[in-house]
Amino acid sequence: PNRAAVEEAARFFREHDRFLVLSHVNPDGDATGSALGVVLMLEQLGKEYVVVNEGETPLKFDFLPRFDRLRNLRKQPLTEMFEAVIAVDCADESRMGDVRPLFASGAAVLNIDHHPTNDMFGTVNLVRPEAAATAEILFEVAEEAGIAFNEELALCIYTGLLTDTGGFRYSNTTPRVMEIAARLLTYGVKPGEVAERCLEEITFAHVKILRRALQTLQLSHQNLVASICVSVDDFAEAEAKREDAGGLVNYCRNIEGVEVGVSFVESEPGIVKVSMRARDRVDVSAVAKQLGGGGHAKASGCTVKGTIAEAKQKVWDVLEPALGVKHDE
Ligand code: 5GP
Ligand code: MN
Ligand code: MN
Repeated sequence: PNRAAVEEAARFFREHDRFLVLSHVNPDGDATGSALGVVLMLEQLGKEYVVVNEGETPLKFDFLPRFDRLRNLRKQPLTEMFEAVIAVDCADESRMGDVRPLFASGAAVLNIDHHPTNDMFGTVNLVRPEAAATAEILFEVAEEAGIAFNEELALCIYTGLLTDTGGFRYSNTTPRVMEIAARLLTYGVKPGEVAERCLEEITFAHVKILRRALQTLQLSHQNLVASICVSVDDFAEAEAKREDAGGLVNYCRNIEGVEVGVSFVESEPGIVKVSMRARDRVDVSAVAKQLGGGGHAKASGCTVKGTIAEAKQKVWDVLEPALGVKHDE
């Protein structure tokens, strides 16, 4: 599948000497695993790099190699401008957060991603919506570039595959995903340990947030939609960080008969992060896109300004026609 684009991406690694490597805001396992996978590839090729994120990377990923090289731009701003940029798992430049100002004018940008909503912002675009994870695409690039696989690189790529397929359970789990995962295990990745860190282990703060969020659980749209809300006060009461609120939306979507699960998480006063998860009837990437976000058919998100109640109204306005059902709370 698009061999030429994979070759072009591999050439991009070879052609430049110093790189800015970035993923998306509130990075997940695919974003972090892919960014650090790129870093390990660059090291093997004898290249220089700075790997950044607008904010903090969740500590749950601190088992990944070079985690300590991830630079939080809010804490450690950069003044350097970069001529070569590798962006992974970013559908568009707004997903990068405040990283765009580090691009030199006319910078060469390699865009490696699997979101169908990707707007092809790169000078080289390796975008494959049929890939389960950006890490899956990175595996192909590494092979093409003649990179020697070892346990560290395998761990980064495996983490992306594992997390974006929900532990090899979602419908994006293809034979190719399983083949690559099997290959990666031969380099020494310990699947039980990675799953423990990425999928099983939760913080106490997460459970405290969950306890509060479950009180808000609500069915609407003739029980086809389940939603849950977390306010800034909930975060304060639970002494929780934003990353502690991850995964709440799954409790909604998993309820029998529910087609769409939605979580409304007020990360700061007046800013509501919306996450959506779908079964089959609705393409939630289209819903998120109408609200300025994006994602995949079965997992999407957007950020809405206003109160939780206002965010809910905005989402309902788009969801009603998509479902063909009124919200009837
Ligand atoms: P989550 O709900 O876990 O934050 O995101 C689910 C999916 O939607 C991910 O694939 C993520 O990349 C995408 N997504 C979440 N928020 C946004 C957003 O604000 N903009 C875009 N373009 N995609 C998003
Ligand atoms: Mn991601
Ligand atoms: Mn991804």
